[in-house]
Amino acid sequence: MDLTSIERDALADVERIGTLSDLEAFQTTYLGRKEGRLTQVLRTLGNLSPEEKKQIGQAANQLRALLEEKIARKKQSLEQSSLLSALESSKLDTSLPGTSLTRGHSHPIAGAIREISHIFRSIGFEAVEGPEIETDFNNFTALNIPQHHPARDLHDTFYLNLASEKGGGSQENPWLLRTHTSPVQIRLMQAVKPPVRIVAPGRVYRHEAVDATHAAVFHQIEGLAIDTDITFADLKGSLKYFAQTFFQSDLQVRFRPGYFPFVEPGAEMDVQCFLCHGAKHLKDGTPCRLCKATGWIELLGAGMVHPNVLRNVGYDPAQVTGFAFGMGIERMVMTRMGIRDIRLFLESDLRFLEQFA
Ligand SMILES: [Zn+2]
Repeated sequence: MDLTSIERDALADVERIGTLSDLEAFQTTYLGRKEGRLTQVLRTLGNLSPEEKKQIGQAANQLRALLEEKIARKKQSLEQSSLLSALESSKLDTSLPGTSLTRGHSHPIAGAIREISHIFRSIGFEAVEGPEIETDFNNFTALNIPQHHPARDLHDTFYLNLASEKGGGSQENPWLLRTHTSPVQIRLMQAVKPPVRIVAPGRVYRHEAVDATHAAVFHQIEGLAIDTDITFADLKGSLKYFAQTFFQSDLQVRFRPGYFPFVEPGAEMDVQCFLCHGAKHLKDGTPCRLCKATGWIELLGAGMVHPNVLRNVGYDPAQVTGFAFGMGIERMVMTRMGIRDIRLFLESDLRFLEQFA
C-alpha cells in the first residue's frame, strides 16, 4: 500500500472521468467505505508504530482531502455541462414570445366618476356617498319639492312598499329609490355645520321607458358648497374650472337661466362644442352633429341653494349661502367619447368596454 502510487493512479484516473457514473466509480475505487484503496491504508494505521502512524496518517489524510476536493469540483462541472446539453437538445425555444397577461381597467362610468371627483378635490371639495334607498322627505320635501309640487312629475319615481322604520315608511314619508343624488346634500347638512364643500357621485333611478338616451338606472354627480359669503361668482368660477379641466382648457362656457326647485337663481351651464369649437360646422363645411350645429353642449344644472333648503336642514339663510350643481355621468361620457347609446354602459359587452383601456 503505497500512498505515492495511489496518488499517481488517482490523479491520472480523475482526468479520464467523463460522466457522473464514472465519478461514482472513481469515488468507490479510492474512497469506498469497504474496498477503497485509500480507506484500506487508513484502516491499517493501527498496526504501525506511533512514529509511522503519525507520518503516514498525516499524508493519507492530506490525500483524502485532495481527492474529495477533486471529486467535488468534477461533480460540479459535470452537472453544469449535463444541464447545458439538456438545454441544447430540448425543444424549449426561449426566443418564443410568452403568454401575455390581459390588463384590466375601470368601467368608463367608474373612470369618469373618479376623474370628476379628482378635479373637484383639487379645489377643496370632498367626495361623499349616500344610500340609494331614500325617504320622500330627503329626496323631495327637504329639497323644496313638497307634496303636489309639479316638479315631482319630472321625476318618474320608483316608490318602495317597505315596512315603517325610523325616518321613513309612513304614508307621508314613503321609501323610494332616489331620483337624484341631492338627498346626499340633505343628509350631510343635517349632520355637519357649515362650511361644506362636497361632491356626491352615485346611482340614481327613474321609471323611464328605456331607449338610446334614457335608462332606468344611471349615475349623477352632485356638488354643494356652503359658507359665509358664497356668491354666484364662486359658482361660475368653480364650474368653469371643472369644464375646462374635464374637456379642453381653451373652451368657453356660458350660463343660461334654468329652473330647479332647490336653487334660486338657477342656471344651466353649456360648454363650447369641442368638436367644432363653437363654429357649428366642421372644417369640410358639414354641420356639426355633436352640438347639432348650435356650437354649444349642455353640461349641467346649477344655482344658488334655495333659502328653504337651508332652513329645512337647520341652517340660517341670513348667515350662510351656497351653490349646488348636478350632472349626469353617462351623458358627460357619451358627449366626450361620441357614444350614441346609453344602454351600452350596462351591457357588459367587452367589445365596447375594451375601447376604454
Ligand atoms: Zn359642434
